[in-house]
Order: sequence, then C-alpha cells, then structure tokens
Amino acid sequence: MGIGAAAAALAGCGRRAATDSDVIVIGAGLSGLQAARLMESEGLRVTVLESRNRVGGRVLSYRHIPGSPEAGGTSFSAGYARMMQVSQELGVGLVNLDPIRPFFAQRTLALGGQIISAAEWPEHALNVMPEHARQRMPWGYLSTKMFMNNPYPTPSDWLSPDYAHLDVSVREYLAGEGETDAVIDLCYDINPGWGNNADHVSAAMVLFAMRFGAAQRGFTGPDGGSAYTAVNGNQSIPEAMAASLNSEVQLDRRVTGISDTGSGVEVACEDGSLHRAARVVCSLPCSLVRNLAIEPALDSMQAEAVNSVDSQILNQLHLTAKRPFWEDDGMAPSMWTDSLAGMIIAEHKGDRPEEVTSLTSWTRGAPAAEMDKLSNEEAAARIVADIERLRPAAKGQLEVAAYHSWYNDPHAAGDWAVWQPGQVTRYAAHVGRQHGRVHFCGEHTAIANRGMEGALESSDRVASEVLDLI
Ligand SMILES: Cc1cc2nc3c(=O)[nH]c(=O)nc-3n(C[C@H](O)[C@H](O)[C@H](O)COP(=O)(O)OP(=O)(O)OC[C@H]3O[C@@H](n4cnc5c(N)ncnc54)[C@H](O)[C@@H]3O)c2cc1C
Repeated sequence: MGIGAAAAALAGCGRRAATDSDVIVIGAGLSGLQAARLMESEGLRVTVLESRNRVGGRVLSYRHIPGSPEAGGTSFSAGYARMMQVSQELGVGLVNLDPIRPFFAQRTLALGGQIISAAEWPEHALNVMPEHARQRMPWGYLSTKMFMNNPYPTPSDWLSPDYAHLDVSVREYLAGEGETDAVIDLCYDINPGWGNNADHVSAAMVLFAMRFGAAQRGFTGPDGGSAYTAVNGNQSIPEAMAASLNSEVQLDRRVTGISDTGSGVEVACEDGSLHRAARVVCSLPCSLVRNLAIEPALDSMQAEAVNSVDSQILNQLHLTAKRPFWEDDGMAPSMWTDSLAGMIIAEHKGDRPEEVTSLTSWTRGAPAAEMDKLSNEEAAARIVADIERLRPAAKGQLEVAAYHSWYNDPHAAGDWAVWQPGQVTRYAAHVGRQHGRVHFCGEHTAIANRGMEGALESSDRVASEVLDLI
C-alpha cells in the first residue's frame, strides 16, 4: 500500500476511538485468540478485531454436511500439547481418529485418465518408480523417505545455520538423494503437500514438517488415541476460546491500518472504526499483512519478507453421495488422481468407522490455480465431471455441498505459508519480528511446531513479548 493509501486508512487520528484497551489483537484464528486469552489471564484488557463474521480463521468446520467435515485445520495428534490442553481446559470433546485411520490407506489410483489397480501398478507403463519401489503406490514413497532419512535432530533445527544448505528446492534436495525428475513429478508434483510443486518449496520447510510429524509419534491422549478432531468439528475449539474471553470478539471488523503514535497504537478498520491500545498483536499471514498500512513502515528486510513469503494454493470441494457408488464399482471411495479432482478423501465421520459420510476433494498446485480463474460453481461442476469420467458409477450420484478456494479467500489469501527455496535463511528471522509497538504471531512465525500447534506456539511467544513490555 502506498503512502497516500496509508494516510487514508489512518485518517482517524483525533477521532474518538471505538475501543480503548491495553492490547488489540488482529484476527480471531487460533493464534490471535490464544494470545488474547494468555494476555487476559495476566490482567490485560484485550480487544480482538476479526474481519470475518465468525471466529476460527483457517479452522472451518462444515456443520451443514453430515459428520461436520473440516475445510481447514483437519486433525491434530495427541502430541499437539497446546491443542490438547486448550480443548481439555475449555471442555471441548475430542473424537479419537484411530478407528478410521486404516481407511486413509485405501485409495483408488487414477493417472492419465485411467484407473490403475494396485495389482496392475507394478508393471504399468506409467510406473516410473525406482526398481526397488515399483510395488509402492506413488503417494507415500517420497514422504516416507523424507520422514525416515530426516537430517534434523529436532524440529526447530530447520532454522539452524548448520542446515542452511537444505534451503534449496525439494527437487534439488531429492535429486541429491538420487531421485529422478520423473519420480519427483509423479510422487511430489501431482498432489503436493507443501508448495505448488517441488521447485516452489524449500526442502528445509518440508523436512521440518516431516520432523515435526516424527516428533508427534508415541504420544497418546486421555483415551489412548493418537490423533483427534473436536466434537462438532475443530471449529468448536476457537469458538470455545472466543467464548472464554472477557470481551466479545468484534466480528466484521477488517483492519486496514496500524499506526504507532509514539505513546500507543491506533488501529483503523474498513468500517471507519478506530481502536486504540498500548500495543497491537497482528496474527495475519504474510499474504495479508502486506495489504495493511503500517506506520512507521516495516524496515526493509521485514517488508521484503512479508511481501515475499506466500501461501499455498488449495481448493476443497465437499460432496455428498446419493448412493455409495463405490459399492457398485468395487473401488475405494478415496482417490489419488493427476486430474482436477486431485486427492479425494472419503470422510468417515459417522457413528460407525466404516460409514462414509461425505467426500472431500483437495486440489492443489497448477490445477488449483486453474480453478481459481473459474466461478465456484464452474470449478465444482468441472471436478464432479472429472470424477464421473473416471468412475462412471459416480454419474448422477454426487451432490455439491460446499466449495472453498483458500487462495481466493480474502481473509486468508492461501492455505499455510510456503517457504520457497532460499526464503528460510533469508526471511525466517524477520517475519515475526517485533516492530515497535506492533507484534506478530500466526502459524508462519512458529519455530518448532506446525499448523494449529504452530499457531498456538506463536501465541505463547507473542504474549510473553507483550507482557514483558507492558
Ligand atoms: C485446508 C487446510 C487444512 C489444514 N490441515 C491442518 C491439519 O490437519 N493440522 C494442522 O495442524 N493444521 C492444519 N491446517 C493449518 C491450520 O489450520 C492453520 O495453521 C491455523 O489454523 C492458522 O491459525 P492462525 O491463527 O495462524 O491464522 P488464521 O486462522 O488465518 O487467523 C487469522 C485471522 O485473521 C483474520 N483476518 C484476516 N484479515 C484480517 C483483517 N484485515 N482484519 C482483521 N482480521 C483479519 C482471519 O479471518 C482469521 O480469522 C490446515 C489449514 C487448511 C487451510
């Protein structure tokens, strides 16, 4: 935003403030809400400003669909100490996912427009796997390798200068590990978990995610489970967090500017309201911080970091089936495809583990970017047509229940932060750095945890930063 726009966004100086508190928190996702709770527990008056008409941010549960499937933060392991503790403290019930785990391994493979059975795969012409791994299905091969051969002694070592040489593309890293381009194209780029493809994301970040995953092993919850969601969807957790605050979260308050006045901060919203406090905590991802008018401006390295670290493109289509068409064609309802449908997950969120309550298609990378050019209706219709083409038994059986593009969502501008090659060493120390009276949190600023737990880790750090200074 230019200086003129910044001045316009902050043109409230001298006006009466809508709120006056010790700290303003921008964003009522997990990190903002937890930071607010921690600061309130130390006696501070906190105002939370949220641009959406709901709390939870990138945690979003579709309660109008049977089983309340997740459109955002999907599951967490028992090793997510903060998520487990917050849920317990606030009395949010958890659902043990262990009984449905075996179903995730059952997937129908579709490549080049054709279904390929597990029996056909080892000798199939499209199988470019190395000789020793021809039996392996493409989805687990590289992730298992990066998981097992992980160089980091602890998750936070991704930031250690000792491992700076890993801040190269996933493709370069895997090539160094002996993998061919054809294997990387097949096993990483078709449904990339991090980044839009293997050239777009730093191996340092992906190896961190894998190491974090490994660190989760061996933990169990109170009922012995290893992974969980919340009853009525994970959104129940931020909702309970918001309800536990002394002041209600102010919804529909899109922040446009932050100004350090020398004795405090003024936060301006799109609706014209102005809010004052001693300090401000901003929980927005970089892809949104860059749109805020911040005065004085961020220093050049932090500004460069905020302008450069982007978020993943990911679209989700939620479908219900009129009848279980997978019983007709005898194939697993979950799919792994190289077409628009991407990865399809059969949701098992009913009373019986085997019951399929809905289907969720996850489209990422280049196909997701293509879909983002279409209307939601067109994108959904194209995915449904794609599934029907691959599986004629699905014809006429699928109903669209919801579609969400995280990249087109103006309150998120993407899924999770993607550190591109070179960005970890250049920017990691800068994205979450305190800027005068402005403090930053959010999953992208976490150093030892990822996703929802990373968001809460960042709340611990930012709350103590503020409490030390106020
Ligand atoms: C599809 C998907 C699947 C995922 N799966 C998992 C998983 O299985 N496990 C896991 O651990 N994590 C997962 N995650 C990641 C996890 O959900 C996020 O890391 C976490 O919720 C981020 O929390 P946050 O507080 O950092 O950010 P957010 O939740 O994005 O919070 C920021 C808040 O700021 C608000 N906001 C935006 N702009 C403004 C503005 N201008 N003014 C005021 N408010 C504003 C937003 O609406 C939002 O509420 C997933 C995410 C997605 C999208």
